[in-house]
Amino acid sequence: MYNYNKIYFLVDRDDKIMSNNYAFINCNLIDGNLNSNAKNDMIMLIENTNNNGVNKGSISKIGRKNEVKIPDNFTIIDINHKYIMPGLINAHVHLFSNGSPWKANNTDKSRISIIEKLKNRRKKNSALLSKRDNVLNALNSGVTTVRCLGDQQYDDITLRNEIDNNKYLGPRLIGSGAAICVTGGHGASIISIISDSPWEGRKCVRQNVTLGVDFIKICITGGIVDARKVGDAGRLEMTLEEVTAVCEEAHKIGLMVAAHVESTEGVRIALLGGVDTIEHGSEMDEEMIELFKNNPKTLRGYSSLISTLYAVIPMHSLDTALTNVSEISRKNASIVYNKMLRGVKQAINAGVKVGIGTDASLPYVTHYNTWRELDYLVKCADITHKQAIYLATKSNAEILGIDNETGSLTVGKSADFIVLDENPLENLRTLSNPNMVVCRGNIINNPKINKIENVDEILDQIAL
Ligand SMILES: [Zn+2]
Repeated sequence: MYNYNKIYFLVDRDDKIMSNNYAFINCNLIDGNLNSNAKNDMIMLIENTNNNGVNKGSISKIGRKNEVKIPDNFTIIDINHKYIMPGLINAHVHLFSNGSPWKANNTDKSRISIIEKLKNRRKKNSALLSKRDNVLNALNSGVTTVRCLGDQQYDDITLRNEIDNNKYLGPRLIGSGAAICVTGGHGASIISIISDSPWEGRKCVRQNVTLGVDFIKICITGGIVDARKVGDAGRLEMTLEEVTAVCEEAHKIGLMVAAHVESTEGVRIALLGGVDTIEHGSEMDEEMIELFKNNPKTLRGYSSLISTLYAVIPMHSLDTALTNVSEISRKNASIVYNKMLRGVKQAINAGVKVGIGTDASLPYVTHYNTWRELDYLVKCADITHKQAIYLATKSNAEILGIDNETGSLTVGKSADFIVLDENPLENLRTLSNPNMVVCRGNIINNPKINKIENVDEILDQIAL
């Protein structure tokens, strides 16, 4: 467990490094823009103001060695030609589990017992503490922004407030609080509150707004881990009227709506209702692709797709003896995976705005493995390393509406970045062990990732 009272932000607490302003020199710099190459011999200056011991830092200058003069009061950090790129943004996580396999099953009896077990596990570990650990594990793995999509206890909002109030150093956290689903619908027992009509939906939105959420999450279709039979994972659960009401209500207050969707019909209803980010996604027709790009019912005139191949690949590819999921879940995972992959490929080819998430908390989906979503997209959706890095940084920032703050290495933006031993444009796996993580100007040197025994070994065996 992490020690939250101690803010671990200085390089080895060396006496030489006591100033709050840093000059990173000898950088191979990847800025996060689409198709950006690594530029060598770069210098990046970070200026910090200090709040209760936590820095708030932004990038004040970027340039070649001969172009940047380092002011006297800056601490020089020589990264010795390592690679530097924006911190990762994980646009889809849950906090209720660390990603170790948990027994997902589909009979009503076993569904109840899983829920009880998860609730007990949360109680035992003290829910908030284990969720905080998950968030800090993500940060140590190089994720400087996380978006949480469904927390019945609203702990995501508590954690966000703690971080924003500088209680400790954490990633930028964007939370939906509880998701909204229909009676018996996806996530009803673990992540959602219930709405069964357009007006109840509006009330849920108002309630969530009162509790301080950053956006609204709804579940339009069923999901893999709690579907009762094969084919139920993408079954429509909300009506167009319900989706429209929630979107109208959220947009009125200026909040975006994210929707869990795992079938073609679900994507159609989400788009027609005005959903801003479609999570997971599925195969689409031409009309749907056009609606993604120009969707007047959304907050900003378009919808985006958040790819989560990592959420389904372990359940789809691994033996049920390893994942602990039922045969029903495995079959549903395969149905969803094939259509989801087709949908992501269609979206990328058609120029739909695409971002990435992992659905961390699902079996084998840990908080420290965000790089695997990039790896899966490169291997299965035929995108380049450059595209993958862009999706996880600048594109995600734009989708979440935080691109004026983070997502690329640009003067004026928050100092959120990672230092890597190798070039991620050639080897994505180097992202699995960052050398340094910098979040809002706070340096975590040699970050400590709590990896789960066996999980990575098993994931590495999946042949794609
Ligand atoms: Zn999810």
